[in-house]
Amino acid sequence: MQSQVSSLNEECGVFGVWGTPDAAFLTYCGLFSLQHRGQEGAGITINDNGQLRTKRGLGVLNDVFNAADLQELKGQAAIGHVRYSTAGSNLLENIQPLPFNFSDTQFALAHNGNLTNALTIRKNLEDQGAIYHSSSDSENLMHLIRLSKEETLDDQVKDALRQIKGGFAYLLLTKDRLYAALDPNGFRPLVVGQLPNGGYVVCSETCALDAVGAKFHCDVQPGQLLKIDENGLSVSEYTTDTQLAICSMEFIYFARPDSDIYGVNVHSARKNMGALLAQEQPVEADLVTGVPNSSLSAAMGYAQASGLPYEMGLVKNQYSARTFIQPTQELREQGVNMKLSAVKGVVAGKRVVLVDDSIVRGTTSRRIVKLLKDAGAAEVHLRIASPPLRYPCFYGIDIQHASELIAANQSIAEMRETFGADSLGFLSVPSLIKAVGLKTGAPNGSLCVAYFDGKYPTPLYDYQESYEQEQAALKGCLKV
Ligand code: SF4
Repeated sequence: MQSQVSSLNEECGVFGVWGTPDAAFLTYCGLFSLQHRGQEGAGITINDNGQLRTKRGLGVLNDVFNAADLQELKGQAAIGHVRYSTAGSNLLENIQPLPFNFSDTQFALAHNGNLTNALTIRKNLEDQGAIYHSSSDSENLMHLIRLSKEETLDDQVKDALRQIKGGFAYLLLTKDRLYAALDPNGFRPLVVGQLPNGGYVVCSETCALDAVGAKFHCDVQPGQLLKIDENGLSVSEYTTDTQLAICSMEFIYFARPDSDIYGVNVHSARKNMGALLAQEQPVEADLVTGVPNSSLSAAMGYAQASGLPYEMGLVKNQYSARTFIQPTQELREQGVNMKLSAVKGVVAGKRVVLVDDSIVRGTTSRRIVKLLKDAGAAEVHLRIASPPLRYPCFYGIDIQHASELIAANQSIAEMRETFGADSLGFLSVPSLIKAVGLKTGAPNGSLCVAYFDGKYPTPLYDYQESYEQEQAALKGCLKV
């Protein structure tokens, strides 16, 4: 999928390190490998002998940090964050880590995910006199920790974690420890690694462990609270009422292909999706091509399983993310595309299987089919390596209305017509589950597939009413 308005956006990536003299530099390197998880803001908080200092700003990592900043951010521990905003608008005060300076201590907080009861908590706490500094839902945790009646900080954090609902992977840095916590369903990935000097790293994806030379230690499990301090790593549970339901979109689109999630390599899972798609949605054609970059693994799988040649039918401009000039709608209609080009010499006169990882609003699919046809493709058969996205996400992805999803509003035949494709086929939910192949015994192969079937693993709390209204409206029962 293309990273424009028509694509999905992950909320965030987090990286934390404890016990190394070059904490800020390692955090920068780790965040750099997690940049795909958020490009709207970045920040690093370091712990310099018990003093926390934060630098954060809008933009990608390189817009916010230069070499002098990293030199200046000296410390032995750090947490960092790359942000895509789902809750809270894109303002500097919402960029994380969120720093908290109390009269007696300091904290810094980094969050990946989205809470489903954030508004209720905020209203309750504001009624009791709490003053929020940002519109980010992440701030709730800090308020709940400070208001907890428990005696130790460990218990206060656990008490706070039990009150928040939804999707969360948290890093919390204090003057003498680093906490990491995962929600009871483990919607977002969070892994622990160890540096050659014995220091620890906690981050969103294993690709960030590789980037800093850390060895994989473990996946953080749903309901766990990890503490890293001068005594090393300790693991406890803040709840045992857990059920793994990791976001299937991590495997389909968000995570980097070189990352492993619960022991499953993302590239291999995508290849399996492509292979099963070829079995379920075969078509007579001359070649297979993928939409760069996130669909290439699935396209390879489709080609291998179908016996068709895998070709480079589309090329992505490596610098497109850096341009702020976009073609107007009129120019786009003329075929001006600053991100993708079709390789005429490959596709002209050919029957092309075009594999994409998913379809959100559908505008990109229409454009890519047109791009291939304009380049002379005889037929374009669109194959999607995931099921149709029909329901919103409330756990950390920026689609919270089914009205934004073309598959919630059009049948497969209508979509094919809209895209101008010669045929259109999607992967089934059972094949998606089989392709990932997690063997933990939880429902749906331990995946959240709510985007596809509307069966949310948790109550929706703040979102329940508006969700029901929209669903009713989509079924034609209610006018909104
Ligand atoms: S609803 Fe979809 S995007 Fe959200 S966590 Fe579940 S699978 Fe992931």
